Amino acid sequence: MTSPQSIHRVSHEIKRRKLEVLRVTDLTPRMRRVTLHGPELSGFISLGTDDHVKLLFATTPEEQAALQSLTPGGDSEGPRPAMRDYTPRRYDPVSGELDIDFVLHGDGPAATWAAQVQPGQSLYIAGPKGSMIVPDMFDSYLLIGDETALPAIARRLEELPANRCALVVVEIEDDAERQTLHSKAQVEVIWVVRGQQDLLQVVAGLLLPSGDLYAWVATESALSRKVRRVLLDDFKLNEAAVKAAGYWRLDASDEA
Ligand SMILES: Cc1cc2nc3c(=O)[nH]c(=O)nc-3n(C[C@H](O)[C@H](O)[C@H](O)COP(=O)(O)OP(=O)(O)OC[C@H]3O[C@@H](n4cnc5c(N)ncnc54)[C@H](O)[C@@H]3O)c2cc1C
Repeated sequence: MTSPQSIHRVSHEIKRRKLEVLRVTDLTPRMRRVTLHGPELSGFISLGTDDHVKLLFATTPEEQAALQSLTPGGDSEGPRPAMRDYTPRRYDPVSGELDIDFVLHGDGPAATWAAQVQPGQSLYIAGPKGSMIVPDMFDSYLLIGDETALPAIARRLEELPANRCALVVVEIEDDAERQTLHSKAQVEVIWVVRGQQDLLQVVAGLLLPSGDLYAWVATESALSRKVRRVLLDDFKLNEAAVKAAGYWRLDASDEA
């Protein structure tokens, strides 16, 4: 029997970096990859597959000025730029490139920025401030999320060795949002089209992989909580091996 206690968190010094947009690639109609580079990317570290960086968006001259001095998490007076959490999808220290995949959901500073972004523009990022390390000690992985979770899910799958199983359930807007996911592990992916199927019902009806299981959930906050309850109450999963996060909130535009 493996021990979930071996899951641990590593802290990193928070650095604010000004990066330049190198490339913009549309992965699907609703998912846009922005490749960032620049000298300040040097020393970037992302050890956990579900790490996040803060992206900083200034809309007024005062917020723009605050960007130069802001320490995320630290005290600051006056206007603060909007901050949004995003997954470092890929960091390549050799080429000096960082990919961030944006869901083009419409509203909000991040989605609006991503909808207009062009090579040559700059973006301030901060972090990651920590990484949750899930050692390779589970037989199988249950990964549940929506499009915002796909970068972290894709990273996890890419890291799994060949002798592992992963069951992946992803809620998407329509079939055009399916992405090709790469892994050495044995992977089954269930795509749940929003409005046609109910993610919670699909999860409740899953036949879980055998052996020690690690479950990871990231979707809209209220939905993540409900999925977590199904995993704990119905499937009786070990709470220490279930991580459920809210990746966005319905009508959260003034909260983050
Ligand atoms: C740890 C972590 C990692 C994340 N990684 C990624 C990532 O790699 N890629 C990614 O795209 N997102 C990711 N997210 C989710 C992202 O931070 C949120 O979607 C965020 O709210 C987007 O900010 P915004 O400025 O575009 O919209 P906001 O200003 O936050 O919200 C504006 C409006 O849009 C709605 N909204 C926000 N997000 C969505 C959505 N996905 N679908 C539909 N409506 C939405 C809100 O309810 C609100 O009404 C991550 C979140 C967390 C916590």
